[in-house]
Amino acid sequence: MKYFKNILETIGNTPLVKLNKLTSELPCLVLAKYETFNPGNSVKDRIAVQMIADAEKEGLLKPGGTIIESTSGNTGMGLALVAVVKGYKMICVISDKQSKEKVDILKAMGSEVHVCPTNVAPEDPRSYYATGKRLAKETPNSWYVNQYDNPGNFKAHYLTTGPEIWEQTEGKITHFVAGVGTGGTISGVGTFLKEKNPNIKVWGIDTYGSVFKKYHETGILDKDEIYPYITEGIGEDMLPKNVHFDIIDGFTKVTDKDAAIYTQRLAKEEAMFLGNSAGAAMKGLLQLKEHFTKDDVVVVLFHDHGSRYVGKMYNDQWMREKGFIK
Ligand code: PMP
Repeated sequence: MKYFKNILETIGNTPLVKLNKLTSELPCLVLAKYETFNPGNSVKDRIAVQMIADAEKEGLLKPGGTIIESTSGNTGMGLALVAVVKGYKMICVISDKQSKEKVDILKAMGSEVHVCPTNVAPEDPRSYYATGKRLAKETPNSWYVNQYDNPGNFKAHYLTTGPEIWEQTEGKITHFVAGVGTGGTISGVGTFLKEKNPNIKVWGIDTYGSVFKKYHETGILDKDEIYPYITEGIGEDMLPKNVHFDIIDGFTKVTDKDAAIYTQRLAKEEAMFLGNSAGAAMKGLLQLKEHFTKDDVVVVLFHDHGSRYVGKMYNDQWMREKGFIK
């Protein structure tokens, strides 16, 4: 009989799917690394497994312990899957900007969820970073994951996502494009690919309101770059340790409007029902058109599923309220 011993064994080995319509003006082959096939419907299942395995090995997470994380939802889902299978309690701290669906999904997976205000500085005690750290101090036998700085995040992509892409493209990949939040995806995949072939170019997708692009270009963390934005999953107001700026060749920024519109277009034109950061990555890739030539093989990673955004980017009333469509 052919079966997996539990749901965690189905994580990874996601398909690579050719984009056909949205890329018609590009000269090259564009392939999507389709991470929604993971059981938690996002790439973050990979890092959840790795970070928890590392914490167990290092004695940071003990039997019956509580896992605590400040998460935009997907990492919480991945961690919750592992917590259920391995018998840990899970507490997620989430910002109020995130879609209600994400909160409901985490609760459905048995997690306790704390919702915190978005528009406060990371060092403000009400922020979701600070609340997560506080809960970790107050909860006995708990472990605070910190995906931003946790090396297991990078490692999961270095050990799984990167090698999969290399093998699936038979080493022919020339460019890797991915949205950047904690940086784990781009840094882990990018480092692996550049070790295989240093000529591969790695492009990060950033959003307006985030510090990454300017920091990469100038080495300055410019506070004026920071303002509230709508795009979910990418961009930051600080520099996570998992963003390895040295392996990233460049960033392009995508507007909230374009990210939302391209999220819809991926569904309607490619039958790819994906999250908001996929729309940003798709539009960002098109903005990079001049960097691609005929024989290039471009891989773009799509992080999560559309179900978490039905009340937002897939809701025309919401799109109208935001001024993204008429
Ligand atoms: N897209 C979505 C939907 C995400 O949840 C995240 C993680 N914050 C990202 C993109 C960015 O991935 P990473 O954290 O690996 O940079």
